[in-house]
This record gives sequence, C-alpha cells and structure tokens, in this order.
Amino acid sequence: FSWLSEPRLRKIVGALTAGGEARFVGGCVRDSLLGETPLDNDAIDIDIATDRTPEEMKALFDAAGIRWIATGEAHGTLTAVEDGLVAECTTLRADEETDGRHAQVRFTRNWDEDWRRRDFTINALYADPDGRIWDPAGGLEDLEARRVRFIGDARDRIREDALRILRFFRFSARFAEGYDADGLAAIREQADLLDILSRERVWSELRRTFAAKGAPRALAVACEVGVLQRLLPGVPRTDVFARLHAAGHWEPALSLAALWPGLPRDVLRERLKPSNEVLGRYAAIEATRDAIIRGIQAHELLYRFGREDAVAAAALAAAEGRQVPDGLVARLQADEVPVLPISGRDVIAKGVKPGAEVSEVMKRFEKLWLEAGAPSESQRTEELLNRALGSKPAG
Ligand code: ATP
Ligand code: MG
Repeated sequence: FSWLSEPRLRKIVGALTAGGEARFVGGCVRDSLLGETPLDNDAIDIDIATDRTPEEMKALFDAAGIRWIATGEAHGTLTAVEDGLVAECTTLRADEETDGRHAQVRFTRNWDEDWRRRDFTINALYADPDGRIWDPAGGLEDLEARRVRFIGDARDRIREDALRILRFFRFSARFAEGYDADGLAAIREQADLLDILSRERVWSELRRTFAAKGAPRALAVACEVGVLQRLLPGVPRTDVFARLHAAGHWEPALSLAALWPGLPRDVLRERLKPSNEVLGRYAAIEATRDAIIRGIQAHELLYRFGREDAVAAAALAAAEGRQVPDGLVARLQADEVPVLPISGRDVIAKGVKPGAEVSEVMKRFEKLWLEAGAPSESQRTEELLNRALGSKPAG
C-alpha cells in the first residue's frame, strides 16, 4: 500500500480528514491486495468514502487549495483533482428505494450503512489513510479464496440492482477460482431481471468481462445459469465458452468468434466496439484456423504463423467444435518455433548462381524441410539441401 503515501493523494485525504473521516474503498483497495498498484495502472481509479457531505467536502477542499469537480453531487460524488491526480470522493450512503436499476440514496455518517449497500464482500474493503484495512463483510477471506460473494441476501441484492449479475461475472472473470453456489442459484432464479437493463450498460459490462483473462470460464458459468442466453437470445451456442476454457487460451479477439455465429457482424461491431487491433488480430487468427482445418502440422503452423496466432487459432477451432488433434494447443504452446536453418548464402556456397535460381532452391528446401518435420541438426539439413539442389529441374 505504498501508493497511499503519494503526496498528492495524502493532500486530498488530509483535506477530508481535517474535518471528518475518509477511507479508500472499492477497486483501489481490492486490486492492491491482489498485488496491483493503483497509481501505476490507469485502469484502477481511486475511490474515497467519507462521512462529509458534498457541501462539506467543497469547503474542506477549498480551504486546502484542492480543485474539485461536481461530477455526481446528487449521489454524493465530488471529483478531487490535485496536480493531475484524480480521486472520486463519495459521501457515505444508504440505499433508500430502488427500481431494480437505480437506487435512491440517502447520505449518512454511518459506515455500517455504507458497506451494507455495496455489492460484493471484496468491494467492501476499506483502507484508512495509514493503510489499515477495515473488512466489515469478510472480503479478505473471499479475496483469498478468490470468489465473488454478494453482501447479505443475494436474491435481495439482485432485485435491488440487476446490473450486479453482470458485475458478478466481470469480477469473476478477473480472478475467480471458486464460485459461490448460493450466489449462482440466486442469479439463475432471477436472470429475467436482466431484461430491464439498458443495452448500453449490458455491453459495457460484457466488454470489460471479455477483456479479463478468465473470461471463458466466467462466461461458461454465465451460460450454465442462463445469463448469456437471456442477454443475447440465440447467442452464443452455450458450449462455446466451456470449449474455449478447455482449450486453455483466451484473448479478447476470440469474443468475436464466440458471438458472431448468432449476432450479425455489424451489430456486434456496434455493441462490442472491438478496436481495429482486435479486428485485425481476429482476421489473422481466422486465417490460421483455416490452416489447422487443412491439417497442417504443429511445427508448420508455428513456422508459418508464429506461436501467438497458432495457439489462438487452435483454441478457436476447438471452440467451433472442429476436429483438432489431441494436444495440439499444448504442443503449440510448448514446442520451439522452427527457424529455417539455411540462407541463400548456403545455397550459393553450393555453387548456385546468385539470382532467381537461389530462391527456387530455397523454396524446394523449405518444402522438403517442413515435410521432414523441420529438423535443425546440420547433417539432416545438409542432406535436405542436397536433395533440393539435386531435384532442380534440368536446364
Ligand atoms: P473497477 O473500478 O475496477 O470496475 P470497482 O470495484 O472500483 O472496480 P466501481 O464501479 O468503480 O467498481 O465502483 C466502486 C465501488 O462502488 C465498488 O467497489 C462497490 O463497492 C460499489 N458499487 C459499484 N457499483 C455497485 C452496484 N451496482 N451495487 C452496489 N455497489 C456498487
Ligand atoms: Mg472503481
């Protein structure tokens, strides 16, 4: 928690504690317990909970000479900015009423009310300005066990806010090893509540889920409890994520593969908003997948496409339910990437005139060498080179 001593952060927290209480909460605490440093990682924002109201915060920040922006005053949030460092400061709150999407909140000075309205135990971990952890919901134990668990009664918490179903899978995709059976049962029973969420919020959560390394497993579980089918009727084939998980490789480009069969590409592009990089990557993976379907062997796949594309393509082929040789992904992950063991110079040294003939010989050599399993021993390659020279067409 060394980031807590960052001077600009201390100044912001100092301003709040001059008149009340303040604690870090949410992603910045959870993720730094997982070994990530919030200030070094743009994706992790700094959230501070305080018993001060927005009006009181303004006065405290003004007195300390800290700039603030009224980003969400109605629900208690003020954004403090100190020399480029941004922290979201939010008044302790309790949920009053909800329509299943948005809660009406009331400010409170009671920390117990604040943690009880948070979604998961791991998201109700607080750190005071000295880094002392306050764990009212048992979040440390769940973090240790790597499981996402609702605070209080899972059924109630989902009824209050259906988005929590998607947040459950998003956080699970990042680090879950275990799944809370009661939470899953509650999700299964109430998956129909997903219907009230806006498409925007659904896709924003899905995008972030796809970005996580554990996405296939989390989404396989989401299929098991009927969540993905509810969100995207007809998409995906429910076993696709389980297969991707079994294949042992994931990258966001594969989310296109999982969803395209059921969603027209233009719709998916608009909703999933894949970057050009991801789209390009997917095109490369598809081309490699076609080579796998043609029966090209592991060493040649590695040689022609490189490890990254080859591994991803094998995972894609498996997810599509195609015949993939047993252990192909494992071989592609473990075997050395073959490098052509001779160059034009070696061919010229054999007496071939520099020019087009050299590349002809090289091409024949490459073919023979790949057929032979891409050996690297010099005696073997010498033999193959002689064959390539000998089999050249007369004239
Ligand atoms: P990340 O920023 O990586 O998404 P986070 O945990 O900080 O993770 P935020 O969406 O920034 O998530 O929310 C901050 C905190 O607010 C959460 O940790 C949680 O305690 C609470 N929170 C956010 N959304 C909800 C929700 N829908 N229901 C209950 N509590 C929520
Ligand atoms: Mg956050």
